[in-house]
Amino acid sequence: MASTSLSDFSTAASHGRLTDSHGRVIHDLRVSITDRCNYKCVYCRTGEVGAQYPELGIDEYLRLIGLFVGLGVTKVRLTGGEPLLRRGLVELVKQLAAMRTLTGEPLDLALTTNGHLLDGLAKPLKEAGLQRVTVSMDAVDAATFEKITRIEGSFKAVLGGVRAARAAGLTPIKINCVLLRGFNDDQIEGFARFAREEDVVVRFIEFMPLEEGRLWTPEIVVPLKEIVERIGRVLPLVELPAREASETARRYTFADGVGEIGIIAPVSQAFCGACSRVRLTSDGKIRTCLFSQVEHDLYGRLRAGESDSELSAYIERTVQGKEARHHIGEPGFMKPSRSMVHIGG
Ligand code: SAM
Repeated sequence: MASTSLSDFSTAASHGRLTDSHGRVIHDLRVSITDRCNYKCVYCRTGEVGAQYPELGIDEYLRLIGLFVGLGVTKVRLTGGEPLLRRGLVELVKQLAAMRTLTGEPLDLALTTNGHLLDGLAKPLKEAGLQRVTVSMDAVDAATFEKITRIEGSFKAVLGGVRAARAAGLTPIKINCVLLRGFNDDQIEGFARFAREEDVVVRFIEFMPLEEGRLWTPEIVVPLKEIVERIGRVLPLVELPAREASETARRYTFADGVGEIGIIAPVSQAFCGACSRVRLTSDGKIRTCLFSQVEHDLYGRLRAGESDSELSAYIERTVQGKEARHHIGEPGFMKPSRSMVHIGG
């Protein structure tokens, strides 16, 4: 390894934080632990099942995550593919819960799931040290839900999973819903009621060009402004202040203070300037942006026998090169080679 990178490493390590060349501090790591999924959501998958990329061993994820934590990462979110499909997940969570940040705190440890297997796993995951879950649901009406996931019985399973997560104390539960115009935007008002009835935070996410097929157009995106207006017509909303600069969701409560809605608007109101994230794919590649055109083979270096300090220096150099922003909707925009399910959403 070049000596400059090692000295860069010691500088950042002494500051205890990972930064990029745009001055952003990176403290949030998303790790995909499989790119397999048991759903075939129509806006995400072409319908083919199966992994496209290899998975690392649980001990290898732990070593790599440990390096990021040693550089200042404080928040780890496990995702996929569908992370609940991954054998060894509970043990991984247990080991992550025992890790400490540079200031000696436990990690902020969360998981994003479709919820299908959560009924059986919520309690063991909570006991292993998981703090919170985000469950993806794109409809509150069972028939629409199953048309989207293309799995019979999926709505009942996910609702059971959400309730099991609440009973286990994996709270606050966030429900992420990707909206596509003319497809599930008739669910908006139902989701507002669902948030209040099920005591969950519902977050609407604008659809991004990250699907396996070629569905995305600017017209299919339901923008933040329209969502707020539509909910406001049935249940008046009050905007809540942001808790931190890198918060991706604009948050709202209802006029009576019961319930919360969030809107994540990466397309109509991009938040790249406050991005604090970096991603590790299931096969151990670093992605510095969802829309990166290049990946950085951290695992290849691990396999080649590099030491922890060499790998850490590589992480630092890679994060330095994080893209300033994405270019969705601009002329010349290029979709990344991996789709959302294979990156880790
Ligand atoms: N299987 C897990 C789940 O369903 O939450 C984790 C992986 S999934 C790819 C993560 C999230 O990405 C889901 O909420 C899904 O709806 C969202 N997603 C997939 N494709 C997307 C797209 N093109 N734009 C925005 N969000 C997308």
